[in-house]
Amino acid sequence: MKEIKDVIVIGGGQSGLACGYYLRRHKLNFQILDKEEKCGGAWQHAWDSLMLFSAAEHSSLPGWLMPKSKNLFPLKQEVINYLCEYEKRYELPITRSVTVENITSENKIFKVYTNKGIYFSKAIIAATGTWNNPYIPEIKGIETFKGIQIHSAHYKNPQQFRDLKVLVVGEGNSGAQILAELSNVTSVKWSTRKPPRYLPDEVDGFYLFNVATAKYNAEKEGKPFNAANYDLGNIVVVPSVKEARTRGILLSSGSFDNIYENGVIWTDGTKEDFDAIIWCTGFGYATSFLKNIVSADDRGIIKTDESKATEVPGLWLAGYGSWSGYASATLIGTNRNSKQTCTEIIDYLQKN
Ligand code: FAD
Repeated sequence: MKEIKDVIVIGGGQSGLACGYYLRRHKLNFQILDKEEKCGGAWQHAWDSLMLFSAAEHSSLPGWLMPKSKNLFPLKQEVINYLCEYEKRYELPITRSVTVENITSENKIFKVYTNKGIYFSKAIIAATGTWNNPYIPEIKGIETFKGIQIHSAHYKNPQQFRDLKVLVVGEGNSGAQILAELSNVTSVKWSTRKPPRYLPDEVDGFYLFNVATAKYNAEKEGKPFNAANYDLGNIVVVPSVKEARTRGILLSSGSFDNIYENGVIWTDGTKEDFDAIIWCTGFGYATSFLKNIVSADDRGIIKTDESKATEVPGLWLAGYGSWSGYASATLIGTNRNSKQTCTEIIDYLQKN
């Protein structure tokens, strides 16, 4: 029989690396498996101009600060470089091009089935992120649209859409940023269900982390959390968004209920043709490989107490967002979260 690891971490993005840092520090016998060929997790697939929404000093994994950027916020490639250097620096045991397809469990040992064979472990950390599960809403007629449709997960740069009439859908950061840069090269409209809400210019994404922390602390202490006191908006005014605002581009055209072969039908019944639709409508969670050991809702959310799965002893979920640890989907948040996860795993391994 193959070696039984203490822990197998599935996913070698920022969350898997942060967990690896603490597992290594505690000298656990662990292995990180990642389906990508290269380092950098989902950041490798982000659009070309994407940058962090907070400064490097607020975007670091445990142990080593992200190097300062010449830009206000670090660029996508700087984040990838940081993650790649990070795993080298801490000699994290990562095997790449390994896709975990299924997991079963027997007598407190997990059997991890992959495209490259079977692994065994006493504990599992799932850190597979969201990028592999983009969400597009079910809208009547969507299958009839003859133009181009992509999710923001697969958007690269505005050149792909030059001279096309494009509809960007979604009122979050992705929608605002993609709209902003597309508007420099082509005709573009923005569809949002709610009016877009911007953070004040002087506030960056670190504020969103602080809000998540305040909410977490209030819940932990059993105190009420008044979201209205913190609700300044959700779109970070990064330089491209700020520039588009000065051109008067950031205007929502409202929402639509139907799609036809050449475009969309706005809620007032007006039809409008588009060559392409870019869905900036968020993500579910890439947890389907766990289906044989735990149930999930239709977005992939699993019942947890912080990052620990409540229904399956020995399983933790790292980095997916608030349901798996407050602010855990951010670089800074995954730091705190992974430390706690590792402490719990050590306790579990000692008792089992
Ligand atoms: P990922 O980076 O997705 O890593 C998961 C890894 O698991 C991937 O390498 C994947 O290939 C692998 N994997 C998946 N399924 C399997 C499987 N079955 N078997 C094996 N391997 C598998 N956060 C910030 O802190 N600041 C920001 O400014 C910021 N901006 C963002 C902008 C956008 C547009 C988005 C979408 C997110 C942003 N985030 C930001 C959030 C966060 O940093 C990223 O989502 C980050 O990639 C999450 O890291 P992760 O390690 O949890 O997941």
